[in-house]
Amino acid sequence: MSSTPEQPDEQPPGDDDDFEVYGFETLAIHAGAAPDPTTGARTTPIYATASYVFDDVDHAASLYNLQTFGFIYSRLTNPTVSVLEERLAALENGRGAVACGSGHAAQLLAFSTLLQAGDEFVAARNLYGGSINQFSYVFKNFGWNCHFVDPTDPENFRKALTPKCKAIFCENLANPGGIIVDIEKVAEIAHEAGIPLIVDNTIATPYLCNPFDWGADLITHSLTKYLCGHGNSLGGAVIESGKFDWAQNDKFPALSQPTESYHGMTFYETFGDFGFTMHARAVGLRDLGPTLSPFNAFLIITGIETLGLRMERHVQNAQAVAEFLEKHPKVDWVSYAGLKSSEFYDLAQKYMPKGPGGLFTIGLKGGYDAGVRMVEACELCSHLANVGDTRTLILHPASTTHRQLTEEQQRASGSGPEVIRLSIGLETASDIIRDLDQALSAA
Ligand SMILES: *Cc1c(COP(=O)(O)O)cnc(C)c1O
Repeated sequence: MSSTPEQPDEQPPGDDDDFEVYGFETLAIHAGAAPDPTTGARTTPIYATASYVFDDVDHAASLYNLQTFGFIYSRLTNPTVSVLEERLAALENGRGAVACGSGHAAQLLAFSTLLQAGDEFVAARNLYGGSINQFSYVFKNFGWNCHFVDPTDPENFRKALTPKCKAIFCENLANPGGIIVDIEKVAEIAHEAGIPLIVDNTIATPYLCNPFDWGADLITHSLTKYLCGHGNSLGGAVIESGKFDWAQNDKFPALSQPTESYHGMTFYETFGDFGFTMHARAVGLRDLGPTLSPFNAFLIITGIETLGLRMERHVQNAQAVAEFLEKHPKVDWVSYAGLKSSEFYDLAQKYMPKGPGGLFTIGLKGGYDAGVRMVEACELCSHLANVGDTRTLILHPASTTHRQLTEEQQRASGSGPEVIRLSIGLETASDIIRDLDQALSAA
């Protein structure tokens, strides 16, 4: 096969600038990686090492002063993890990325860079349940206070802002409910207040939506889900657009003021459009320590190579299953933004023209008991608490993840007693449908 400029064969692109001409699928396979210079190994090796030898004392000094980029200790940087970080920055069209041990660690890194004790932020109330917990309880112990708002009207974010707010946080595709947030409008509200919009892009993935194109300033990911894609490892990342001016006001002293633990260096002044990334690594990872293991980075890099293909099929299968369930006599409602009946259909066309993901909820006419019977009757679909696997996953939140809540709280979070959550996998669509159909008969 002859190679064309769009199809690199022997030589993968080596320079970051080259990546601008490549398409998503090419970047997903090549960005950040090159054959190993010493062995020629084509896939990225797992660099299972805690530390790295210094050339001499001057080299060590310049590494510690952040004057030279290089490797010191794997809590901060590791060559396998670096490939993943470059790839994520390329796929999100961002300036820099820091990978870490989980999606929750990514949120910790993002907020610990922006907030000090006594600061506040506004978040959508429709978030991954673990994020609501993190923001409501442990963050409070750090002195960070979160105001939750209904994200379906962007003005709600503006109304909740206080002078102490340092960020707005939302998921662009939030479940349960298949909610699509109008992030372009929310970004405008954040920017008028001189603060960044952070978007959790876990469920949409960069294949379906690029939040930076719509004004987001930071993106967080749980790489555990679709990015890794095979349900085999945890990981997270925070990615920076490089466009936010951290010195436009005095809200972000960690970035705009001298840092004592780096001899008075100012991160934004020194590193400019990747100042946030450098701080999240050199202070966040260094001092909080939620590092990603190179073994997990290897699995996630491998998963990302097929992200485009997988998301295309996740969306196709989700659409087929949602259309089937919408007509099923035992199903009361289906909330999938790919269905015309969804109130988020138009926003989905705008933000996710390739499809609104592979995850949605349904309501059963038979209520709580029907939900329990359905998950127990599934044979192909796995009854567990995760999303974004190759396998189809089913969960009845009211009897599992949301069982500690009152029925009123369950309903408010979109996880009432009748709700079933489905993460549609990559099996043959008719097999998924057949299993759900027989499980519904049992319900
Ligand atoms: C899973 C998830 C998280 C948390 O990620 P972990 O990797 O489990 O820490 C955050 N946001 C969303 C949308 C998620 O699905």
